[in-house]
Amino acid sequence: QPQQQTKERSKSRKRSREASRARSANGRLGAQEFTFGDTLGEGSYSTVMRARYIRTGQEYAIKILDKNHLIRKDKMLVALAEKNVLVKLGAGHPGIIHLHWTFQDEWSLFFVLDLASNGEMQSRISRLGSLSLTSSRYYAAQIVDALEYMHGKDVIHRDLKPENLLLDDQFRIKITDFGTGKILENGADRAKTFVGTAQYVAPELLESNETSKSSDLWAFGCIIYQMISGRFAFQGLSEYLTWQKIKSLDYTFPDGFDEDAKDLIRRLFVHDPTQRLGAGGPDSAHSYAALRAHPFFASVSWETLWTDPAPLLE
Ligand code: ATP
Repeated sequence: QPQQQTKERSKSRKRSREASRARSANGRLGAQEFTFGDTLGEGSYSTVMRARYIRTGQEYAIKILDKNHLIRKDKMLVALAEKNVLVKLGAGHPGIIHLHWTFQDEWSLFFVLDLASNGEMQSRISRLGSLSLTSSRYYAAQIVDALEYMHGKDVIHRDLKPENLLLDDQFRIKITDFGTGKILENGADRAKTFVGTAQYVAPELLESNETSKSSDLWAFGCIIYQMISGRFAFQGLSEYLTWQKIKSLDYTFPDGFDEDAKDLIRRLFVHDPTQRLGAGGPDSAHSYAALRAHPFFASVSWETLWTDPAPLLE
């Protein structure tokens, strides 16, 4: 059946592109304005393809969502939520995937996104076993910078993990996958829906089903741990056992783990979400300024973080 679905979706994509080409004179942006290249990846409800905007020659990643499939699986609202979050975040930060345009035809929704041509951070970690301390620090700093921007816009990601950190042609981070993202409305600071991935879920989600900006900072701690060690910080034999470990903060550092990184992670793996580094307001001891000032980041040049060349990924 999945094979059948893939076939159907690929047929529908083809129909979409042919029909859009046929209607190329309607003046509005459509698939006819792009030449499509290889498939970059498949999601549960989407296919992402490399595409070149003919007018400028610029390359993008176009996420194509099959409308029938979205309706059948009751995921239309998820797709629209992703779009709304991306629109809210805009082009204001280099570490967050930018949505340039959207359009649709009878069969599909199209999201034209920044192209991240070097794939997912997860596959780099898997391939290399773990990252060097220099690379881990560089990527951790880029994540902090992007998170501060995102949280400043009252957006929480809720599913941060190395699969959702893409690398662009310069090997800089682009945070993606805002399908589970949430805009906190009217000054709310928490949201109640269960989303996320077992190993990166914060204890408050398991205990009171609440997420906040701080839950992203917990996941950030999990990501630093994983970049440096190549393993999950919290991993049991089942999802249930993983969650038990998270709730009781049952984790250990492998031998030789950098001392400053340990200290930073300990300040992120804090049970009380309000006490995590980065989770406090500008005047608190847990502000983003305090997070940036942590000794682990002492050698980071924050002003040139997005213009300096990335360290060799090793
Ligand atoms: P799911 O919907 O199941 O959570 P997903 O979020 O990974 O999966 P997509 O957002 O459709 O689904 O992405 C599918 C794959 O395409 C990703 O795994 C990623 O490797 C690749 N991809 C997504 N966006 C881009 C992009 N902007 N540039 C390059 N590759 C991308």
